[in-house]
Amino acid sequence: MKKILILCVLLQLCFYSSFSQVVSLPVFPLRPTSPFGPRVHPLTGRMDFHRGVDLKAKRSIIRAVLPGRISSCGQNSVLGNFVRICHGKAESIYGHLSSVLVYPGKEVSAGEMIGVSGHSGRATGEHLHFSLRLDGSAVDPLKFLLSLQVILKKKQNHEKQRQTTASIPSGNPGGDRKDR
Ligand SMILES: [Zn+2]
Repeated sequence: MKKILILCVLLQLCFYSSFSQVVSLPVFPLRPTSPFGPRVHPLTGRMDFHRGVDLKAKRSIIRAVLPGRISSCGQNSVLGNFVRICHGKAESIYGHLSSVLVYPGKEVSAGEMIGVSGHSGRATGEHLHFSLRLDGSAVDPLKFLLSLQVILKKKQNHEKQRQTTASIPSGNPGGDRKDR
């Protein structure tokens, strides 16, 4: 959990030093349907450890959460069509896609389209399986995603404020007042 906090602080620092796109949610809006941790697998009926979080998706564009390089992509029996992105010490993994739009070695920016959601692999229905690994170990990605959401909201509010300030005519600040 400490690692996640460090990553979040770094992200905030990146964000405040530059307002360019440095983070993105993997899918909009963020609607978790199955958390990280031990669970009875919905298909096998056996206990297993869910190494990621499931997010609601329907023919949704899937985006890179951070800038990075595609470490691998392809197909396996569990994740179906998947994409893995290396971000230095962190790696993000996106599974059950219907199509993959990137190739290994490709550099991607935050928010770049990497695939389309689907229900390939071992999945009961369409959703996005999202995992986060730090130094090779799977961590609960939900706090990370929620902090990305907070960062993106702050960015949106900041941009809205900038636009409002820019659109107020400087010579007539109370132009539509009716009290005179
Ligand atoms: Zn999952």
